[in-house]
Amino acid sequence: MPTVKLLIGGQFVDSTSTQWREVINPATQQVLARVPFATTQELDAAVDSAKQAFKTWRKTSIGVRARIFLKYQQLIREHMKELAAILTAEQGKTLPDAEGDIFRGLEVVEHAANIGTLQMGELANNVATGVDTYTLLQPLGVCAGITPFNFPAMIPLWMFPMAIATGNTFVLKPSEQDPMVTMRLVELALEAGVPAGVLNVVHGGENIVNGICDHPDIKAVSFVGSTKVGTHVYRRATLAGKRAQCMMGAKNHAVVLPDANREQTINNLIGAAFGAAGQRCMAASTLVLVGESRAWLPELVEKSKKLKLSAGTEPGTDVGPVVSCGALERINGLIERGILEGAKLELDGRAPKVAGYENGNFVGPTIFSGVKPGMSVYEQEIFGPVLVVLEAASLDEAIDLINTNPNGNGVALFTQSGAAARRFQEEIDIGQVGINVPIPVPVPLFSFTGSRASKLGDLGPYGKQVILFYTQTKTVTQRWFDDSTLSVGVNTTISL
Ligand code: NAD
Repeated sequence: MPTVKLLIGGQFVDSTSTQWREVINPATQQVLARVPFATTQELDAAVDSAKQAFKTWRKTSIGVRARIFLKYQQLIREHMKELAAILTAEQGKTLPDAEGDIFRGLEVVEHAANIGTLQMGELANNVATGVDTYTLLQPLGVCAGITPFNFPAMIPLWMFPMAIATGNTFVLKPSEQDPMVTMRLVELALEAGVPAGVLNVVHGGENIVNGICDHPDIKAVSFVGSTKVGTHVYRRATLAGKRAQCMMGAKNHAVVLPDANREQTINNLIGAAFGAAGQRCMAASTLVLVGESRAWLPELVEKSKKLKLSAGTEPGTDVGPVVSCGALERINGLIERGILEGAKLELDGRAPKVAGYENGNFVGPTIFSGVKPGMSVYEQEIFGPVLVVLEAASLDEAIDLINTNPNGNGVALFTQSGAAARRFQEEIDIGQVGINVPIPVPVPLFSFTGSRASKLGDLGPYGKQVILFYTQTKTVTQRWFDDSTLSVGVNTTISL
């Protein structure tokens, strides 16, 4: 049985841990590898190697750092198919979706190669006569990243390339559910030239995450995952004096006005609700039909029935398995609760027959109508291919509903009215807003963001904001005497 290695000081090593778990193919239940829960000593060794490497890495020139990421993006492109196959095997999403996951991370790597222009300070000339003030954006030291299972390529790539490109060293803790594609990406980073100790990897769960939060030599923590764990990480890491950014859970609403383009909207909604089996933090899991658009529901249900459910490796698959048996049980349990609490099950995806993959963690597209706030299927993030449908009498009612929900990750409005779109954009309290764009994940020129329960910390991952997150601003005020004599004391002058 292959084991997933730790990366410490440039060496891939087996953990000495006695606690391990299996990495399982969710379409077949085949065990792919064993992953360790690293020990405290291994975390200390990873942090120490990052701390030692920082001494030289922080002084490495901008050009050298940039060229490593130029090479890295090329290697990721060359290995795209191989990476996607690993990702699909351990996570379940379809191969095209896996390539999308890798590609969105690759875009951040490309951005990391442009770091020179992003990490420039400011200068004010003659703040007093002959005096200039300027800022340096200096790396912090050892930074750490904790990532979720649902984007095992993109989210690690949101983190370590930007941290390293700005001169920091890094300790990554990937999801223990699907660490293998992350490890392959880490191998390619070393091949691209990331020096020993600059990037380190430890595996594990709660204990190792708590160890990262508490470690005195880690200066900043980036977390992406659920609201419950992210809130804990934010509190614990900031209590220990660290910077923290936590991107967390979601309940993303899609609002449809009756003037929207019907066919495009319905197709977009189906992709955004059921793609990646609904396991996207930006999945449109909650549909709000405003006014007459409620009449579109039967067409949405009919089209959703036609989606192909199978393993992510099968050509033409629309919906793959969910990541684990535990996730399947939780999703089926929530569907059960929805029925008991009075929502109308328009499409039931439970216990589907998937030829050739009878043991897979499958749940088909599921749609509830008549959903109301207070029902579990509305209040909880289902994180599966389940769409809950509510109705609103007006755009304002939809905005109130969304702003009352605690989550503020993503939202989409479908309309052909510019005035309605502008009002929506002004009034809605959500991080990512799509206007006729179902999953508005920002490209790396911008930063990912979030409101309320979906984000803690001021600065988002990647884009311009992350430069400030991964650097400390130092302000220098400087005066040089340019006359031929220099005063060195009250009564003394020396000639230069
Ligand atoms: P999770 O919170 O269970 O796990 C995230 C990380 O925390 C993992 O590395 C895990 O090992 C660790 N962890 C788990 N339990 C822990 C505990 N008790 N104490 C300390 N650490 C712990 O999340 P997940 O299930 O892997 O991912 C899905 C969640 O991530 C969803 O809520 C989704 O919305 C969210 N997500 C958010 C974004 C975003 O940008 N806002 C992006 C992707 C995923």
